[in-house]
Amino acid sequence: MRIPYGATFTASAALPVVDTHTCPHCQAATPMRVVAGAEGSATAFLWIGMKSALARAERNAEKNAASLGKSQIALARCPACNLRSAPAVTRFHLVTVAVALLILGVFGAGVVWATGLESILALALPILGGLIGALFLGGFLLGRRATLRASDAAVAIGAPEGGAAAATASAQG
Ligand SMILES: [Zn+2]
Repeated sequence: MRIPYGATFTASAALPVVDTHTCPHCQAATPMRVVAGAEGSATAFLWIGMKSALARAERNAEKNAASLGKSQIALARCPACNLRSAPAVTRFHLVTVAVALLILGVFGAGVVWATGLESILALALPILGGLIGALFLGGFLLGRRATLRASDAAVAIGAPEGGAAAATASAQG
């Protein structure tokens, strides 16, 4: 994507992530694996350092995939008792609410500011801002729900064939 003051690179990465899932319900500690896909971006301001910006975008994508994989494993159902970790789910929802409030605050402030303009923009800008804000918020919430769903793709390492974890893995492709 070209921007007026430089070039922004976006890279995507799909990494196998391995982490230990610790269940607060049955205390089972299970090594689990999930393939996490994420994007990362970096900007070369004034088109200086394009190569390193591309490398940075790739590193950011890998970093994002690694941390996404870890949170997916933390959110996954326990292979032993099939329950999700309540604290992990609560933390996940708290982050979702915090970021959603931030988005609402930023766009809300923009809409209030635009309403004070003394022109036709006072009508058009708040409506436009509200629409863009709603799209942005909707996209974010859908992405969070997808992350929670994708946590079901995490499988226990060495899970026996035909077990609950193996069934989940084949259902996910
Ligand atoms: Zn458990």
